[in-house]
Amino acid sequence: MKAGYLSKTQLQGLKRELETLQQQLLKDLEAEQGDQKIELSLVDCSEVHDRGEEAVTVGQQFSHLSHINRLAEEVRECQHALQRIESGDYGWCDSCDDEIELNRLMANPVAVLCVSCQTREEFARHGQAASF
Ligand SMILES: [Zn+2]
Repeated sequence: MKAGYLSKTQLQGLKRELETLQQQLLKDLEAEQGDQKIELSLVDCSEVHDRGEEAVTVGQQFSHLSHINRLAEEVRECQHALQRIESGDYGWCDSCDDEIELNRLMANPVAVLCVSCQTREEFARHGQAASF
């Protein structure tokens, strides 16, 4: 285990932030999943008049599902970050093992990469530098 550069107080603060975020996400997720059940039953009961209308419904359903997936992924990121706090690995870049900047963690407590690795990753993924 590496010697943490974050103080206990900073870690506690970030941990609280992550727990709050996680709870919020779980609540959103639950609400979304509830909505989805209602929407699905509405789709079952209502008559779909033509193909165009059906396509719209399917499209909405799809974006709804990807929203749910996104939320579920964010919950996983929170859990991962909380585990890292427990194991003392929190705050270190997954890629280059360097410190993740504190102000970056404050802004995005689930960050697992330092700014330069994140930029490189996005460059690799999108074939261009991230616009910030
Ligand atoms: Zn890095």
